[in-house]
Amino acid sequence: MTQNKTYDVVIVGSGISGAVIAKTLTQAGKRVLLLEAGLTAGMNLDRNGNYLNYVDYLNTFYQAEIKVPNSPYPNIKDAPSINVIDMQPITATNSPSTTGYLVQAGPLPFASDCLRGPGGTTLHWLGSTPRMLPNDFKMKSLYGVGVDWPISYEDLMPYYEMAEFEIGVSGNVDQIKWPEASTEKQQVALKNKYYGKNYVFPMQEIPTSYLDSIFTGLVKEINNNDPVKFNGKKATIGFSTTPQGRNSVPNPQYPYRDILWNPKKKKLEFQTKKRWNIQLNGVVDIPEDEKYEYLPVGSTWDPNTGLRCEGNASCVPICPVQAKYNALKTLFKADRTKTTIKTQSVASKVLYDEKTKEITGIEYKTYNTANSLTYETHVAKGKIYVLAASAIENAKILLASGIANSSDQVGRNLMDHLCLLTWGLLPEKGYPYRGPGSTTNMSSFRDGPFRKEHAAWICPIDNWGWAWPVFSPGSDLAVALSKNIFGQELRALLADSIPRQLLLHYECEQAPEPGNRVTIDPNYRDAIGNYRPVIHYDASDYMKKAFKAAKDLNNQIFKDAGIQDYTVYSPTIAQDYVGYEGQGYNFWGAGHIVGTHRMGSSKKDSVVNADCRTWDHDNLYLVGCGNMPTLGTSNPTLTTTALTFKAAEAILKQLEK
Ligand SMILES: Cc1cc2nc3c(=O)[nH]c(=O)nc-3n(C[C@H](O)[C@H](O)[C@H](O)COP(=O)(O)OP(=O)(O)OC[C@H]3O[C@@H](n4cnc5c(N)ncnc54)[C@H](O)[C@@H]3O)c2cc1C
Ligand code: SF4
Repeated sequence: MTQNKTYDVVIVGSGISGAVIAKTLTQAGKRVLLLEAGLTAGMNLDRNGNYLNYVDYLNTFYQAEIKVPNSPYPNIKDAPSINVIDMQPITATNSPSTTGYLVQAGPLPFASDCLRGPGGTTLHWLGSTPRMLPNDFKMKSLYGVGVDWPISYEDLMPYYEMAEFEIGVSGNVDQIKWPEASTEKQQVALKNKYYGKNYVFPMQEIPTSYLDSIFTGLVKEINNNDPVKFNGKKATIGFSTTPQGRNSVPNPQYPYRDILWNPKKKKLEFQTKKRWNIQLNGVVDIPEDEKYEYLPVGSTWDPNTGLRCEGNASCVPICPVQAKYNALKTLFKADRTKTTIKTQSVASKVLYDEKTKEITGIEYKTYNTANSLTYETHVAKGKIYVLAASAIENAKILLASGIANSSDQVGRNLMDHLCLLTWGLLPEKGYPYRGPGSTTNMSSFRDGPFRKEHAAWICPIDNWGWAWPVFSPGSDLAVALSKNIFGQELRALLADSIPRQLLLHYECEQAPEPGNRVTIDPNYRDAIGNYRPVIHYDASDYMKKAFKAAKDLNNQIFKDAGIQDYTVYSPTIAQDYVGYEGQGYNFWGAGHIVGTHRMGSSKKDSVVNADCRTWDHDNLYLVGCGNMPTLGTSNPTLTTTALTFKAAEAILKQLEK
């Protein structure tokens, strides 16, 4: 059945990428149809409905035996999600591994997940929002690795500001450090250059955790007394605080109130606020008609709870009060009179005219109820089409449709941050499990000439004890009980050890490799006949060298700081286990799934141009992390959201030609 209505734009997916397109376009007066694979119950854009549905997620989470990122959310057969608990080592007898939604062809399993449901993966993201470094855009010309981006950091700066507005980032620009600067003066000069002299984030910095102060204090002593060696040379370890997508105190200096389309200038522009009068005693005198703006940007739902982060460290998989940003908050602000949303509608194929290459519709299957497996097929029609279904799904839909692939790059260059975890007991109590998942990162090894040899990394100080690698604190109890430790002795043991738990993760940037890829195979389909993504994945020596360098560095820090090392790598600790120069390493996925439809300057080796428009089809845009040609060491969503604003501007220009 074909839809009669023709929309200006048809969007697939209601994660942050789809939501930004929907909000920006409808606010500019365009009519959009949004197709969302997840359940109707999750698409609640009114306060009460949202609250009730969210309570369901919370209850599911509390009752879940295994608490992983997808635990709170429904996994439905009609539109299954990638789930880390489905991942298994790939062996001769288990190849490909087909236990979950992904078909894992190996040789290593791809170890990250994402969420198919209204709001997408931001429902269970951590919310860290650093910008990429300027050098990250020039990996080929500076370090001979991967490719250069078709745009520079400077080109993206105005869009980074839009992304920070939309997410409502909390942070302190003065606390962000650039690895290339070695003096305080250079830091200030780079801050002025890369953020602008007077730039502030929408919200003030979330206080850093007590654990951060203990660990950074120990490292400062190392820096002062006997600096560590990195690749054979003395190195000073520096820290940055991490900008975050969670509510803190709104910054009265922040000048913007909205982002709107200017049809005359054909560009997106910030709307500025009236100046707030900040008095000497810190009291803010807000004009009467702007008082509502003192609410944090992200306080869309229940203003009595989500107004401020409460520091309970369960950001992944679910923030109990919705102080953390999620994409439904953006969708809430779309002009509802111009937005049609169809949930339980799974896009399966993009249709096109073979002669003109113009996209003519999107075929989608609407299922009746969760897991019913009965559905109707429809075609959605618009002038322009936008795939925002996540890096793996976007690639899969393109491959299933046989489009946009004249470069043969669709599905290739799948990347993630490969996380090398290290864990130990601090010499004194740092009290993890208080504050957001992470508030400070080790930032010195994010860039440098060593990137010619091995991957760079960012290293967040994690605030959730040893939960990630060994499921603390439950596992601590289990270990003690297995040793017959009970009663007072048990209480004393746990009270001494759990508050001293330290977890670091060296988040190593994966380089693009054409063989790491998403493909499709007619033998592997889901319950309603859509293709399942087939993943081919491995870790190159560029990554393994980084694991070695990071672990060497970590060993020195732990030894010099008196941290008892409990790190163990083995094939049973995590599914991804690799050997390098006689040592074994485990790595974990970060959920930063990128690269599968990269942007570039030439249609020969990229899928989209710098506006996220496919080279092969004038009326097809792809948004999301699949566009990123290289990953850098930043969590990718802020950058991808900046690119999405750039794409929204290009779509509006095209519609108004
Ligand atoms: C555990 C975890 C922690 C993370 N932490 C961070 C972090 O701290 N910082 C950061 O920058 N990033 C983080 N990320 C990554 C971040 O969550 C993603 O980059 C981001 O959410 C991607 O947004 P998106 O809109 O492009 O895709 P998604 O959020 O995945 O949205 C895709 C949407 O498309 C829908 N969809 C999928 N297939 C179809 C189909 N066939 N038809 C119709 N609809 C479809 C889905 O239901 C979903 O709504 C994390 C990820 C994970 C897993
Ligand atoms: S620390 Fe708690 S309140 Fe703050 S964002 Fe995370 S889960 Fe939400």
